[in-house]
Amino acid sequence: MPGLEDLYKEIILDHYKNPRNRGELECPPAHRTEGFNPLCGDEVTITFEVGPDSLAKIRIAGQGCSISQASASMMSAAVQGKSIEEVRNLSAQFKSLMSIHEQAIASPAADPASTTFELGDLEALKGVVKFPVRIKCATLSWNTLLTGLDELDG
Ligand code: ZN
Repeated sequence: MPGLEDLYKEIILDHYKNPRNRGELECPPAHRTEGFNPLCGDEVTITFEVGPDSLAKIRIAGQGCSISQASASMMSAAVQGKSIEEVRNLSAQFKSLMSIHEQAIASPAADPASTTFELGDLEALKGVVKFPVRIKCATLSWNTLLTGLDELDG
């Protein structure tokens, strides 16, 4: 399906060139968390503010490859305004999208198309699983945000 792959490429490129929620919030009151992917040299700095019942504001800074930066931009758009529980669920869904396809490569019997996700633009990143070394690029911002949320609980 070259049409779909082209669309996915365009979505990734759009987020890379026009990153959403770019910048840093003042800390405090915002929380700050940083992630690094040594395999590729990607860096992401996430600042976020938690409201009474939601991830009220999120800003992304950092640098790296197009996949890592586009993924961080997509994540920020997907999680802002959601409850912490929804953010964790979305994160789990996104990471399973990455690993389901990884497994599908190893075992052709699995049918990834039978699983439905409502991930919007994030779906565009599933092409990444054909290049396992890039999966860490795509999941960096999610893992970094989860670490930041865990620090809040602790
Ligand atoms: Zn990368």
